Amino acid sequence: MREAGRIVARAHQAMREALRPGITTAQLDRIAESVIRDHGAIPVFKGYPKPKSPNYPASINASINDEIVHGIPSDKRSLREGDIISLDTACSYQGFVGDSAWSYAIGEVSTHVQRLLAVGEQALMRAIEASVIPNEVRDIARAIQTFVEGQGYSVIRDYTGHGVGRKMHEEPEIPNWWSDRKMGSSLKLAVGMTFAIEPMVVAGRPDTRELADQWTVVTKDRSLAVHFEHTIAITDGAPQILTLL
Ligand code: MG
Ligand code: MG
Repeated sequence: MREAGRIVARAHQAMREALRPGITTAQLDRIAESVIRDHGAIPVFKGYPKPKSPNYPASINASINDEIVHGIPSDKRSLREGDIISLDTACSYQGFVGDSAWSYAIGEVSTHVQRLLAVGEQALMRAIEASVIPNEVRDIARAIQTFVEGQGYSVIRDYTGHGVGRKMHEEPEIPNWWSDRKMGSSLKLAVGMTFAIEPMVVAGRPDTRELADQWTVVTKDRSLAVHFEHTIAITDGAPQILTLL
């Protein structure tokens, strides 16, 4: 999993270096896919199934501005100065998966956008800090929710982090918010657990809507969204972030 995570990090690095106004999201997709395949890994997103929808057609999600997740790369979609781009990708290497997402500003952006990006990244870091024994999954969820809402933003509730292993989506769900009443009991963290934490932070309300392409998820109120994700491993000390170089 560490190797799979490293390859995902390399794909992100290559995309990050290519970011500029004018580049298309399809170009970013090709960059990530080449890095993944050049390392002998398989892009997990490509062909990913979803009930009653076409299989996912690309190796990355490229979600712009009010798009939260699952934006489909396109030759017709190019980045503009002032955009927020959220890039998500995953690969499988020798049977194990890494999954990571990051959001970036394109060129000059307002201080409001800079702050949203900073809060999203910090939410992920706080969640990782909370991923220690004897905490439970709900402690991670609460770390995200408390921090984000304390900053005046919302966390997306309709999509969650997840266990990662031989498959991209395994048990348990790692929510970005928590309600004992709605979610019941929580799971205690244990050494060797591996999962993806992925706060999606929005400037407005947390309600979501899926576009007609049956994949792209946007905020209902069209407010801006950011998305930060790492795959981590629980140890008897600090968690290990697997999706780093
Ligand atoms: Mg992901
Ligand atoms: Mg994920």
